[in-house]
This record gives sequence, C-alpha cells and structure tokens, in this order.
Amino acid sequence: MIDMHRKFKEDVEKKVFDLRHRQTIQFNMSRYDEAVIEGEKQFSNLDLAREKAASIKHKTINRLDKYLIDFDSNFTQRGGKVFWAQNKREAVKEIIRILTKSRSKKVVKSKSMITEEIELNEALLKSNIESIETDLGEYIVQLAEQPPYHIVTPAMHMSKEDIAKLFHEKFDISDESSPEEITLFVRKLLREKFINADAGITGANFLIADIGAVAITGNEGNAMLTFSMPRIHIVVAGIEKIIPSMEDLQLFWPLLASHGTGQSMTVYNSIVTGPRQDKESDGPEEMHVILIDNNRTEILKQEKQRRALSCIKCGACLNACPVYRNIGGHSYGTTYSGPIGAVITPFLKGMKNYKHLSFASTLCGKCTEVCPVNINLHELLLYNRNEAVKKKHITFNEKMVMTGWKNIMKRRWVLDMAGQRSKSLAMNMFFKKSWGPGRALPEVQPKSFKELWKEKNES
Ligand code: SF4
Repeated sequence: MIDMHRKFKEDVEKKVFDLRHRQTIQFNMSRYDEAVIEGEKQFSNLDLAREKAASIKHKTINRLDKYLIDFDSNFTQRGGKVFWAQNKREAVKEIIRILTKSRSKKVVKSKSMITEEIELNEALLKSNIESIETDLGEYIVQLAEQPPYHIVTPAMHMSKEDIAKLFHEKFDISDESSPEEITLFVRKLLREKFINADAGITGANFLIADIGAVAITGNEGNAMLTFSMPRIHIVVAGIEKIIPSMEDLQLFWPLLASHGTGQSMTVYNSIVTGPRQDKESDGPEEMHVILIDNNRTEILKQEKQRRALSCIKCGACLNACPVYRNIGGHSYGTTYSGPIGAVITPFLKGMKNYKHLSFASTLCGKCTEVCPVNINLHELLLYNRNEAVKKKHITFNEKMVMTGWKNIMKRRWVLDMAGQRSKSLAMNMFFKKSWGPGRALPEVQPKSFKELWKEKNES
C-alpha cells in the first residue's frame, strides 16, 4: 500500500520549488482575486447572506433524513428514479447497470467532482463505455490523463501555451493556437459527441427537497446539452447537496457564482425536475439520481466537523489558502484538495492514511474568512488533528517529541536553564530534516523574551 504521507511530502517538495508552476498559479489566481471583488459587490450585506446560507445548510445537514426522503418522494412522483448508494462500489455498479440495460455505449459527462471520487470514468472504460468530459477544463485534463487540479477550474495549473502544446500533440493542430481557436475546435468536436451520446452524466450543484429537483449550473452550456440531448440522464450527487427549498437558490446561486468565479451569476442555471413528461418536446426518456454516502455519514457523526458538509464546493478556500497556492492541487493526492479537502478526506478515505493533510496548514484562518457558508475550516483542521491523536494515528517519534515538548513547556526553569545556544542546537537536531533543505530554519534570538523583559523593567 502507498504511504500517502510520504508521497505527499515528496510531491510537495517537487512542486514548491517548481517556479513555472508557481508562476502559472499566481497568474491564474490573481485573475480570480480581481473577479471576486467585483462579484461580491452585488451583495448589499455579504456577511448577512453568508450567515443565512450557513444557517440553512446547518439546519439541512442536521435533518438530512427528512430532506433526502422529501427529495426522493417528490422526484419519483414525476417519473425519476433514485438509487441510494452506500459507497463507491454500489454507485458505480448501479450506473453501469443502467447503461448496460439501455445498451448505452457512448456517454457525455459534465463536470462533477463526485464522479472523480468514485472513479467513474475508469470504471466505464473497463466496461467498454466511451465517456467524454464536455467541460472544457475537464476535457483538457482528460486529454492530458490527469485528475482535475482544482474543484472549480480543473486545468488551472496549465498555461495557454501548455494547452496549445497538448492539442498539437493529440490533434495535430498548430502549437500556437490561441485559446479562442482551441475552444472552437473543442466545440465542434463535442457537438458530434452530444448528438451521438446514448446517456448524459452530470453532477448536481444542489438537490432541491420541496420540489424534488436537481439544480445544475455551468458557464459553457455543456451541462444543458449533456442532460437534454441523450435518452438517459444520470445525476450523481453526494447526500450533502440537499437544500430545503427552491427559494433557497436565490441565495445559493449568487453565493456560489461570486465565490467560485467572481461572477454575479453563473451563465447557465437549470432546474431539472425529471424525465420528459407527456406532451413535452425535449428532455431524456429516463432520469436517474444516484445519491451517494461514501462515508459522508462518518463526517455527520462528528459533532464539530459535521459543519464541513455545508460546503457548496465553490473553491474559494482553495484559492485563498497559502499552502494550496504553493503546493498546488495535485500534491494532495485526493479528489478534494485545499482546506476543505484536508478537513473531509480523512473521514472519506480514512484518518490513518490522510490525517497528514490536516497538519499541512498554517492555521492562518484565511479559508474560514472567505467561505460563503461560514465553515470554520481552520478550527475543523485542529479538531481533526485532535481526532488523529485520540485514535492513536501518530508515530512513536511524534509522540516522543510532543511528550518532550510538553514536559519542557510545563517546567519554565528547564527552558531558562537551557539557554539560547542550546535551543538553537535542539532546533537543528530535531527539526532541520523535516524543515527541508529549501528553507532556512528560524533562528533563536540571543536573548529570550523573559531576559529582555527583565532588562527593560530593571533599567
Ligand atoms: S469550504 Fe467553503 S470556501 Fe471551501 S469550497 Fe466549501 S463552500 Fe467554498
């Protein structure tokens, strides 16, 4: 089994000193930062909007049992089908069953992180079902055979030159193609895929309980084509995507757009209530919603970390995080990266192998500051650390160092006796290796605070 912690450290080491990567990210993030300032201007009272959204999500997460059942019963009344999948295996099995039964061989997909989580494309490929990503960013990373780099902008780590080079290698178009030329090329290519697709697979931005509907937003129109053209529409959604009422969208849609991309509203916003009804001229013959737990109930069991289920996947905390901005999305080695990924992944994939993500944070609190649903992410990271220690997922060395640290800190006289020079030596001895060769260890000052204080008050 791969040692995820070791792999994380190795990948991070490579990324942080990759100046080209850093330049690309800083450039793309700076454009995001500028856009968000504009997007947020639409709120006369942003703090109040966030508080309201947080309260709605909090209430919903605490009554998931009620709202999910409401959604199921309202959605099925209009001919939709709901499948409750406890884990990734059940979800994938059901999707393949639906596709096989309907003899579907060609699938178009719109961007959905949960389909990454359950590794759906790989499973479809094994079943000889063609699956094409239709979001431009997703299509680029699919071509590059990489996982998405970011939950909102999957190809954020690639410059326009990198993308032109990729298309040149795959399709032999000029390696100097502009972003507009590449977009037109993909647009034409995907049109044919939409027309011939047997089934469309989308995620859900929100599941609306009171009307039994799925809200899907996107900027390229590809999601609308994905669910409206093929005979079958399959929605894959985590159980936390539920909101109580259609009215709540007037709050969540602008919050998602402004914090996700800096827009007032995402360009295309659809509410899908089921398969094509009698006398309706378009829409799929069948519509299925695969509701996935896949350890979300493990998060729900945690009194504190449960708040993380309120996440609307806007990506703002990733963009704000100084750690993410330096190590990038792929270093995390998980579907969900950045602060929210570091909070939820240890529960989704196991504390033992992923607790290190909760330690990869400066706890500066910037993530909490920008979250549109007021999730106290930096505090949740601390609770995760505490949970990891309680569950004894720490190494012997970590335990020894912390015990030693605690004993010294409890005895002030030991610290005083050690003197500044010994402290410097101890820092070098214990932390130099983990600090890494690329950074200078902080220096211990010649005089301690206590000594300076004494001198100041005696003079
Ligand atoms: S935790 Fe908050 S800021 Fe981060 S992706 Fe979720 S909603 Fe956005």
